[in-house]
Order: sequence, then C-alpha cells, then structure tokens
Amino acid sequence: MDIIVLKRDATEEEMRHVVKKLESRGLKANISAGTERTIIGVIGDTSKVTEEEEDAIRAASGVENVVRILKPYKLASREFKIENTQIQVRGILIGGKKIPVMAGPCAVENKTVLTAIAEKVKAAGAAFLRGGAYKPRTSPYSFQGLGEEGLEYLAAAREKTGLPIVTEIMDPRDLDVIVKYSDIIQIGARNMQNFRLLLEVGSAHKPVLLKRGLSSTIKEWLMSAEYIMSRGNHEVMLCERGIRTFETATRNTLDLSAVPVLKQLTHLPVVVDPSHGVGKRDLIAPMAKAAVAAGADALIIEVHTNPEEAMSDGEQSLKPEHFEKLMAELKPVAAAVGREI
Ligand code: PEP
Ligand code: MN
Repeated sequence: MDIIVLKRDATEEEMRHVVKKLESRGLKANISAGTERTIIGVIGDTSKVTEEEEDAIRAASGVENVVRILKPYKLASREFKIENTQIQVRGILIGGKKIPVMAGPCAVENKTVLTAIAEKVKAAGAAFLRGGAYKPRTSPYSFQGLGEEGLEYLAAAREKTGLPIVTEIMDPRDLDVIVKYSDIIQIGARNMQNFRLLLEVGSAHKPVLLKRGLSSTIKEWLMSAEYIMSRGNHEVMLCERGIRTFETATRNTLDLSAVPVLKQLTHLPVVVDPSHGVGKRDLIAPMAKAAVAAGADALIIEVHTNPEEAMSDGEQSLKPEHFEKLMAELKPVAAAVGREI
C-alpha cells in the first residue's frame, strides 16, 4: 500500500481517520490536496501492512482506492494513473492530439525585440511564448536576465499576441512574482534536483515544465517530478533537452529514446527541446521532426529575429523564417503519427 485516493466528497474527519490508522502502524501520511481530489502518500515501510489491514483502509468511509506502486515515484507513475495527463493552459491543451509549440528567445532582452519575436512566432503558428527573465548562466559575468522587468515585457507580449508565457524560475524567492506573470513555470536543467525549489513550485497553482538535468537518469528526473507532485501540484510536464555524453559534435545529446521510455513509465506529458538538445541551428529542424515522430506532446524552440546579436544562445536560435518553414514541415510528420501541429 503506497497511495490512498480519497473520494471527491471525502470529509476532513474521514481523512483524519485514515491518517490516524496509518500512524498507529508507525507510518506517516503525506497529504496532497490536488484540484481534483486528495491523495494520501504513505511514508514508511509499507511492507509491514497486512492485506487485512489494507482491506480495512480500503473499506473506510471516504476512501476510493488503495494502490500499491512498485516504482519509487508514485504519483508520477503509469501504475498510479493509466490515462495520459492533459494540462490546459489558457485554453491550450498539452497532452492531446494537437502538439503545441512553445517558441521565443532564450532570454528576454528588451520590449521591442521580444514583441517582434512574439508576433513572428505567433504568425508562424506557435501556441506559447518562451523567454527567460532569470537566466542560469555558466559565467557570473554573462547577462543574467532582466528579472521582473523581463516578466513585464513577457506579459505585454502576451497581451499583444494572446500567447501564454513559459518562463524559468531559479530561486524560490521569485516564486510570487513569477506566478503573477507566467502561465507555465520552467524549472531549468541545472535546477532539476534543487529539491527546495521543486517543493515550492509544488505548492503553486501553475503548471510546471520540468527540464531534464544535464546528467540525470530518467528515474532521477521522475523522482524530481514526484517532489513537485507530492505537494499537490500534479500539472507537471517533462522536457527532454539533451544530456551530457562523450560526444562533442553537438552541445548535448538529445535523448529521444527518453520519449517512448517516459510514455511507458509515466502519464505526464512529454516536451522536447531540440534547441538546447543540439545547440546548433542547422540541426534543430531534423531533431524537432524526429521528436514529433517519437511521440512528443509539445516542442520548445528558441527563435530570435537577430540571432547574431542575441544575448544568449544565438547559435542555436532559429530565425523567424526558418521557424515558419519548420512549422510547415512538421505538419506531415505529425499527421503520420496520428497527431496535429
Ligand atoms: C533555457 O531554456 O534557455 C535553458 C536555460 O534551458 P536548460 O535549463 O535546458 O539549459
Ligand atoms: Mn537557452
């Protein structure tokens, strides 16, 4: 027994009764009050719970089901939820037949450039605007992002184009301001195992795009999703963005096999970022197509009107005309695998 799913109309008292039962067996309860229903994660050695005791909990009033999950990640696992999770963001569905494309600059640089990029990607068919206001840069001397000012420009671009915003959080102290402006909160690769940050976004009422760590296994990545979900936020999407290997021809090695692996292991939507995956402009279109063929639920792609002058990741940013061409080329690939762009 690992997870107890309460009925939609379960009362506080019914929940406390179940928690008491667990505590009397030396176990602890992790209450995850999601928007749909409350789930109790059981912490401790559950192997000591007998089948009879498990049946008694299953029969308790307010309890819908008791589930045993063999995987270390529970709420994120396919065992826990068979059907795919779909996340609705301002009327756009992630995890449905249609594959939304998130596009925009690596970093928000100024209002004029951002608005111009937003209008271009919108015209090409993008569904979301991406752009970092808080940038995780390798060097402390590189451009670190505009902070709240950048978030304001993103909100202004959303106002103008209608595109919802994806933007990165690096520090729990910025949570309130990022929640205020964004539609999807991105956790960058470098913070995939920043567990305090994961718990903080787990308490927020905003969908989360969780990027794969630079050298993380799929299991570690799913454990990070579990951190977010354990706090009640079940709107998590997993973004493959390339991992470190011995190969130097590309910036990272885009692990597209992670897409079908994740589809087996988890019900969460899978996003692919070919831009950071390969780091070179010319390689992005083929890998974006391959990602769609592999079963990605969404793509996130860096686009800049003037990549040569971009303040970060210019070498991997597509020009708007190349992005437009790619969007057209993705359509038949999506159709071939029963999807739409
Ligand atoms: C980004 O999206 O610009 C970014 C920094 O991504 P990652 O965390 O995958 O490197
Ligand atoms: Mn980038």
